[in-house]
This record gives sequence, C-alpha cells and structure tokens, in this order.
Amino acid sequence: AAASAAELLCCANARALLDSVDAFLFDCDGVIWKGDKLIDGVPQTLDMLRSKGKKLVFVTNNSTKSRIQYANKFQSLGLSVNQDEIFSSSFAAAMYLKVNQFPPHKKVYVIGGEGIVQELQLAGFTALGGPVGAVVVGLDPDINYYKLQYATLCIRENPGCLFIATNRDSVGHMTDLQEWPGAGCMVAAVCGSTEQEPIVVGKPSTFMMDFLLQKFNVSTSRMCMVGDRLDTDILFGQNAGCKTLLVLSGVTTQSTLDDPSNSIKPDYYTNKVSDILSLLGE
Ligand code: PLP
Ligand code: CA
Repeated sequence: AAASAAELLCCANARALLDSVDAFLFDCDGVIWKGDKLIDGVPQTLDMLRSKGKKLVFVTNNSTKSRIQYANKFQSLGLSVNQDEIFSSSFAAAMYLKVNQFPPHKKVYVIGGEGIVQELQLAGFTALGGPVGAVVVGLDPDINYYKLQYATLCIRENPGCLFIATNRDSVGHMTDLQEWPGAGCMVAAVCGSTEQEPIVVGKPSTFMMDFLLQKFNVSTSRMCMVGDRLDTDILFGQNAGCKTLLVLSGVTTQSTLDDPSNSIKPDYYTNKVSDILSLLGE
C-alpha cells in the first residue's frame, strides 16, 4: 500500500481494520502523549482495544528513559502498561549489544541520557573506563564539544568500535508546546566528525522490529503500527508488512501527508487515536 494514497479512517474501514488485526503497535510521543501530557481519549481507546483482546505494544524512539522509567510514566498518566509491552530505543541499544555478543570486558561510551545507561546496566554492560568497544548516541541535552571529541576518538581510533544510534528523529516533543531538536542532530554531529554512518536500532530499523516480533506470537500482517512520524513510525510498520495508521496529533500535518514529494504513505490516517473509539460508536 506504500504508493497509493492514504485512506481517511471512517466507520467502515475502522471496523475492518479492527477485525483484521490482533496487535496494535503504538508509537508514544504524538500518539499516546505529547511531552508529559496525555492525548485526549487515549485511556478509553486502549481499554476498548484490550477488552476486544488486542495485544498492545508501545514502541518509542525516545532514548532518555529506560523501560522501568517508561512503565512509571505510563502509570503516572493513569495507564496500566506492563514493562514487557514497552520497546524503547534505549532498550534496543542494549539488546543490540546483547544479541551481537558484545564482550562484557569492553566498555560502552554513551552520549545520551540516564535511560541508555540504565538499560546497558540491566543488560550487564558498563559505561566507560577501560577499552571502549561501542559508542551509543541518543538525545543528550547536555551534549558538548568534549563529549563529541571522546566519541570521535573512540570510533576513529579503536578498530571495530561500534557506532550505534538509538534513533535519528529530527525533532521530538520534549514539551507539549513545541518541537525540540531530536537525537538526529546529535547523531549527525558524530557522523560529521567520524565520517561514518551509525547502526540505527530504533524505528524504522528492522532490528527493533525483529527483536519485538520474537517476543510476540503475532504475524505482522495482523498488526497495525500507529504513529505520528512518516520516516520512523510508518516506515517501520511498512517495512515489516504491518498495516499502518498515521495520526495527525503529533509532528505530521495534513499538508505534509498530502505533499506529493512525500513518498511514505500510511494505509490510513486520522486526527487522533481516540477516533477509532468514536468511529466504532463505542
Ligand atoms: N526522542 C526524543 C528525545 C523525544 O523527545 C521524542 C519525542 O518526544 C522522540 C525521540 C520520539 O519519540 P516517539 O518515538 O515516542 O515518538
Ligand atoms: Ca512519535
């Protein structure tokens, strides 16, 4: 469905979509919340989907929190979400190292937040000190020239040093009012100095999807990825053969969606997640 135009979600196709999928993969920022503010109608929509036996999975590119921290955030917003329903790009970075048998005697240099460091620790890896075998870059509000210098040295001077990016989002909602520069600009800084491209572990990478699929016994043709960004969320779902639903409650506007130069088209689009609820008359 990548080339054809996106269909506006309506009563009939919403019902067909619901009947044709067993699992919904939800992007978080722009879909569930904006910054720290819950988006209207989300609790009721999630309750309805759960009551119909749908599996819910939450996939976020925001690496600043660990899964434990995300479970707390969901709880503080009044949503009951289990830790193993959450896939963050911070967790993906730790799992990438684990799956690729990263040697525990080597250390990991992190440009990023507490979320990445905590996930590395939970996976048995240590940040810094001793020979560095991997540099992980995510959003870091405290990035500076010296951090960039250390990352550059690690990558340029240690043969085989991994350069991992949690995600390359251009912007994100650090607050609900504005978009702020995302991890993409920090990753670009390290690309510039090292003249290397990173391994991306968050959306739209297939690593994140393959890892997630191992945990759930659902075929991708019976999954729907719900997101607000075309080049991460929608592409992520399409690459795996999921159905895709774009919501206009986040970074993508109707005019971006309609722009002929945009080649990524979701199967369906709607204003916000809770439209599923109202369209079904629930
Ligand atoms: N990275 C950062 C730092 C963010 O603030 C955000 C959104 O707020 C994202 C990434 C995108 O997160 P998600 O994949 O949940 O939309
Ligand atoms: Ca998003």
